[in-house]
Amino acid sequence: MFTSLAGKTVIVTGASKGIGRGMARRFGEAGLNVLVVSRNLEEAEKVAAEIGANASAFAADVSVPGDCSAMAACAVERYGSIDVLCANAGIFPAAKLGAMTAADFDHVIGTNLKGTFLSVSAVLPEMKARKKGRIVLTSSITGPITGYPGWSHYGASKAGQLGFMRTAAIELAPWNITVNAVMPGNIHTEGMDGMGPDYIASMEASIPMKRLGSVADIANTALFFASEEAAYITGQTMVIDGGQVLPESLMALQEMDVA
Ligand code: NAP
Repeated sequence: MFTSLAGKTVIVTGASKGIGRGMARRFGEAGLNVLVVSRNLEEAEKVAAEIGANASAFAADVSVPGDCSAMAACAVERYGSIDVLCANAGIFPAAKLGAMTAADFDHVIGTNLKGTFLSVSAVLPEMKARKKGRIVLTSSITGPITGYPGWSHYGASKAGQLGFMRTAAIELAPWNITVNAVMPGNIHTEGMDGMGPDYIASMEASIPMKRLGSVADIANTALFFASEEAAYITGQTMVIDGGQVLPESLMALQEMDVA
């Protein structure tokens, strides 16, 4: 149905685990060359090995400008181009206001928001030179649409990514570079496992589809944004959340249980 992306190159940041790993695997299945990026080289190498000969690993911290430039240079050196960037790396440590320090805030913004800016900036020279590119940001429903105690810094970083995206999409349109964002709800990942069974059970109960999403649910949307068929879509978002943001109240969820 979609034009093949085989032979193109994607960089996926935060690809050693979770959503990023799911994206790297999905793009690898679609025949792209995949640069699997995370701070931990050994973990990234495991994911590259799962994908196969069309994937390789690179260690970079997206909050460090030099690491992001080296990541882009590595993709060009190994594969000859950068067609797609999935700026996915992110952290979500919880801290409520009053306990949250300036360092906590800087760490989350530095990784999630500044890391997005740095990753995007690093791939632009190559994409602009070829007058073509696809950038997919991993935002969230948390921040742009919803809130959750402990995540004011995280929510600000995820909403900030969308503000960044809208201006970036305008600035980069003349080079035929699109910038779009996936907005996952609660997705089953290693990071999510760390939230504990009570959190996961309460989330499942509040989702109309009564389950967490899978990394494949997010990866498929990222692949669509990267496709030729999405060439005229830029500055847009896709919520992938099993309907989580829809219920007006607890009653709305209870009512749906009536046969
Ligand atoms: P995860 O399982 O904790 O994986 C996070 C990935 O990011 C790992 O590969 C980690 O590897 C990497 N990473 C963290 N800090 C990094 C840095 N400074 N530089 C480079 N890589 C870094 O998280 P996830 O749940 O898959 O989340 C991935 C993205 O989805 C995040 O942006 C998150 O905000 C977003 N999201 C997740 C959910 C969800 O339900 N899971 C929902 C909405 C949005 P290293 O530690 O080796 O660097």
